[in-house]
Amino acid sequence: MNSTEQTLSIIKPDAVERDLVEKIQKKFLEKKIKVLKSKKIQISKEEASDFYKVHQTKPFYDRLCSYLSSGPIVVMVLEGENVIQENRKIMGATDPKNADEGTIRKLYGISIDKNSVHGSDSIENAKKEIDFFFKD
Ligand code: UDP
Ligand code: MG
Repeated sequence: MNSTEQTLSIIKPDAVERDLVEKIQKKFLEKKIKVLKSKKIQISKEEASDFYKVHQTKPFYDRLCSYLSSGPIVVMVLEGENVIQENRKIMGATDPKNADEGTIRKLYGISIDKNSVHGSDSIENAKKEIDFFFKD
């Protein structure tokens, strides 16, 4: 079943640093996904820890939070048909080594840590994550 959805996308520090913002946004536009909102910010480690709290028991949690707060990021609200799953497809697998050809992580990801993008993984998390960055 198709429906218009919104999801949260983040361009992580490694990709912002390498000037990949426009190239990544083009991948969305090519798939008829709208970039409804977009802002470049830098968050504190506390904010990153709050954002990624679902991972708080994981061995990589501390490194992940340090990394996300290490430099500017671009946070975006994307909108389109089934955009939550579509964005996950366009992103590719978490580890760029396992990502399909043509995906953002295959093209631009450096490592499992520096994998260039974040995308919400469910309707519930998309709502929470959009609110986290764009609550007025
Ligand atoms: N991550 C990591 N090591 C791992 C698994 C994940 O550094 O073994 C990082 C990676 O940057 C990933 C983020 O933690 O993007 C969140 O992990 P998740 O499993 O939610 O992957 P994603 O949804 O980003 O594909
Ligand atoms: Mg995830």
